[in-house]
Amino acid sequence: MNAHAPIPQADAGCGVAIRQERGQRAVFCGLTGIVWLHRKIQDAFFLVVGSRTCADLIQSAAGVMIFAEPRFATAIIDERDLAGLADMNEELDRVTRRLIERRPDIRLLFLVGSCPSEVIKLDLPRAAQRLSQSFAPDVRVLSYSGSGIETTFTQGEDACLAALVPDLPRADAHEAPSLLVVGALADVVEDQFARLFAGMGLDRVAFLPARRAGAMPSVGPNTRILLAQPFLADTARALEARGATRIPAPFPLGAEGTTAWLRAAADAFGVDPRMFAEVTTPGLRRAEQALAPYRTMLAGRRMFFFPDSQLELPLARFLARELDAELIEVGTPYLHRGHMAPELGLLPAGTTVVEGQSLDAQMDRCRAARPDLTVCGLGLANPLEAEGLATKWSIELLFTPIQGYDQVGDLAELFARPLVRRTRLEV
Ligand code: SF4
Repeated sequence: MNAHAPIPQADAGCGVAIRQERGQRAVFCGLTGIVWLHRKIQDAFFLVVGSRTCADLIQSAAGVMIFAEPRFATAIIDERDLAGLADMNEELDRVTRRLIERRPDIRLLFLVGSCPSEVIKLDLPRAAQRLSQSFAPDVRVLSYSGSGIETTFTQGEDACLAALVPDLPRADAHEAPSLLVVGALADVVEDQFARLFAGMGLDRVAFLPARRAGAMPSVGPNTRILLAQPFLADTARALEARGATRIPAPFPLGAEGTTAWLRAAADAFGVDPRMFAEVTTPGLRRAEQALAPYRTMLAGRRMFFFPDSQLELPLARFLARELDAELIEVGTPYLHRGHMAPELGLLPAGTTVVEGQSLDAQMDRCRAARPDLTVCGLGLANPLEAEGLATKWSIELLFTPIQGYDQVGDLAELFARPLVRRTRLEV
């Protein structure tokens, strides 16, 4: 499609105008997810099978945050023809064997695929199966693709978690219903949610991914899944294929989003509304107090989202409803109509949601609108800042704990900081 061709429009049935765009994109690839996933699953290792570019990307995305020996590496595959495939498999086996010998703490190894054609020729799922058999029972080997051809940056987490699902223990049909929270959350956030669910009397609650490979949760027909992240379409599908049922809910961003997310789980398990209020009110009060000073800073500020993390809709909903910001355009790389239905229903009527990307056209719209704050990927931030526009790197929203009541102030601060900095510079 021509970048400036008219864009198809649809109404989501909730007063939100959804447009689709196709064209040049500017988004990180799914390898980026390793940066937060390797910290979450503490005995896992991520071996990227890729090129020097992949090694550079993962090092520069993660380098500044790694203080201990990292649990990721890149096996660099040089140019080879098809005749060299046998050698590549041998080399992969050799690299993996050396890694496992050197790092006996590894219990779960992910082979992560990438874009180079030499890597695409390799059958990584089969290699993972072969290596898994050879290291059983000490190390499980799985594979997924983080390639930029197949994934945008948060889809790396989706692909990783979806790869875990076939291996999860089976929960029997006669087992009592259990809640499975799906999506990598910072440990501190996970602990807060676990305490809130326990306070409501829910004692069969687990999180995917677990912090250790040997503690991954079971799944079965009585498992209710509650998505903690909005980019987990494949993982949810795989869990549903194993009999689990998804609880529709907005995402736990902001005081309102967190309450609605917790309430969806509470309602699914028949928690008494009074008990729900008793357990959640203290957190809700703290969150509302934390938000008050930011509302003064962000009310009326005009926001523009480039499509990047798939967190855009819940973030836009939070900014509009809890901080009175104005939404100019909310871009998202993909829009899962089912998972996003509760979020679409909460966006202000008339909000423009753009699914997909045509970079030039979107840059033109952004320049013309001159928003107060543009949320975008690292690659777009510098040119926009050079043109005098304040930006927020969307990747920070993945590296920072932002879900739940006690992180609401930090979440608002992430949006307020670039505006405050700009005001100081202007004074
Ligand atoms: S886009 Fe492809 S080649 Fe580039 S870093 Fe990502 S996986 Fe590697």
